[in-house]
Amino acid sequence: MPGLVVCARCGKHFVGTSALGNRYRYRYYTCFSRQRYGTKYCAAERLPAEELDAAVLDALLHTYERTDLFDKAVASARCRARSERASWSHLPSAND
Ligand SMILES: [Zn+2]
Repeated sequence: MPGLVVCARCGKHFVGTSALGNRYRYRYYTCFSRQRYGTKYCAAERLPAEELDAAVLDALLHTYERTDLFDKAVASARCRARSERASWSHLPSAND
């Protein structure tokens, strides 16, 4: 879900990248500017993907605690799903 995250320094979106460590491939999110043009252009830190995913998920769950917002989101998602015949199985399935 890197598209949700925006660089605090330059305002570009973060993109998913990976780096090969000693034993594992590490996933990161890196600012688009830094990834493309280097740290001279934007010095934003790379973020470990797992931590960021967890943080974003946490924020989403907090949003869902606002049930009024959640209901609106569900309603608009249903509209979209109907008009686009798109699956929204990526949303929590507590409402059916
Ligand atoms: Zn940046």
